Amino acid sequence: MSDMRLRFPPSPTGKIHIGNMRTALFNWLWARKNDGELVLRIEDTDQERSTKEFEDIIIKELDWLGLDVDEGAGVGGEYGPYRQSERLDIYQAYAEKLLEKGKAYKCYCSEEELEEMREEAKEKGVMPKYNGHCRNLSKEEEMEYIKEGRDPVIRFKLPKEERDVVVKDDIRGDVTFSSSVLDDFIIFKSDGMPTYNFAVVIDDALMEITEVIRGEDHLSNTPKQILIYEALDFDIPRFAHLPLILDSNRAKLKKRSEDDDVYIGEYREKGYLPEALFNFLSFLGWAPPEDNEILSKEEIIENFELTDINKSAAVFDVEKLNWVNGKYIRESDLDYIVELSIPFLKDAGFIDDEFVEENYEWLKKVIDVSRTGVDYLAQLPEEAELFFKELEFEDKEAAIKEFNEEGVELVFDSLKEKLEELDEFTPENISNIFSELINELPVGGRTVYHPTRLALTGLDSGPEMKNVIYILGKKETYQRLDNALAMRNEN
Ligand code: GLU
Ligand code: ZN
Repeated sequence: MSDMRLRFPPSPTGKIHIGNMRTALFNWLWARKNDGELVLRIEDTDQERSTKEFEDIIIKELDWLGLDVDEGAGVGGEYGPYRQSERLDIYQAYAEKLLEKGKAYKCYCSEEELEEMREEAKEKGVMPKYNGHCRNLSKEEEMEYIKEGRDPVIRFKLPKEERDVVVKDDIRGDVTFSSSVLDDFIIFKSDGMPTYNFAVVIDDALMEITEVIRGEDHLSNTPKQILIYEALDFDIPRFAHLPLILDSNRAKLKKRSEDDDVYIGEYREKGYLPEALFNFLSFLGWAPPEDNEILSKEEIIENFELTDINKSAAVFDVEKLNWVNGKYIRESDLDYIVELSIPFLKDAGFIDDEFVEENYEWLKKVIDVSRTGVDYLAQLPEEAELFFKELEFEDKEAAIKEFNEEGVELVFDSLKEKLEELDEFTPENISNIFSELINELPVGGRTVYHPTRLALTGLDSGPEMKNVIYILGKKETYQRLDNALAMRNEN
């Protein structure tokens, strides 16, 4: 183990979405690459919106993507507790410290008074800031407020002199903020809960985090956090602020799942493979030096560098995700794909447990053939449908007409004959038969393929003929060819 310590601190206020998962993944990659430790901390100080259910979903989805953590909620460790709601006394103690040092103060201003300040600023056309009203209250004034029953917040006392605060960022370089853009910000709310900016610093410091990797939306919080580190004499970690993720319209990727399919679990439910999503998410803002789109976990870890992360926004391109996922579906071990596909075929009503048990080898063939035509496994039932249901012609008239065309009967008869003579019934050998038919019969390639496809599947296109016949088997193939020929006399 190196002494690098990283953290992923989600708020359990919703189902974990793509953006947060990418943040978790980049922390995980950097931790694994450097033999560091990754801590999972649950930031649940928003009591109204945080739930245990969302926390469980976070843990489940991290696990699904293969992001194991070394320490934290659900795992334990020496720096706990790892839920902020269980650390309130710690935050209180540090707030006390700042009050004692004169680096923070209690503010009794009411919501109305603050609103007035904001209005005034608006009228003057300046940035709304807290005006420092409670910075130097006398004992008497304070007593008065307490008597009135006002619940104070605690504010951080900005240094009087304007100064620069420098964020050392491994993606952006040094990012300098002037303290003049800040005001005496709140570190403890009147309900006794710490604010995000305060709790995150106390936790990152006490958990000895060495590098904070998080979304760019937190960059503007960082100067406040650095001032708190300094006020408490904590070591300041390094930072890496990841670029935003935009959707294909270049709008900010929506956060919540209810109205959008950004919840990571929806990809699982549609039959995206964790390996594919891992690969795809790694490329949201990062790319390896060589132009490879498909890389294994190990290769990604090996190549991953914070300094290679882009500063500009990453675009979430579903087409690309589909392409990556399709590749993983076709190239992964067949048994694995079969296992993942079975639930989708069950949901479609094509199979049940008994069927799976009795026809496993056949099912494997069907899935192997059908997987070539899908981007994600929810598409598999449609692709495989022809193997599970009775033959059906969309346009029977047209089919009959086609079966009546010259040469069709000859093709069907020759096909049957050659299939009968085969030593081994394999897709490869079936494919050879088609080449022979084209060479030997006085008909064009279309007459060999199209009526056959129509007779066997009822469709104009679909899986390759060699695979269709292989899966249907000889008996069913003959039956369907014969039926097609019989249809010719139907009207
Ligand atoms: N709970 C914060 C969030 O989910 C953590 C931000 C941070 O990494 O500091 O946005
Ligand atoms: Zn005040």
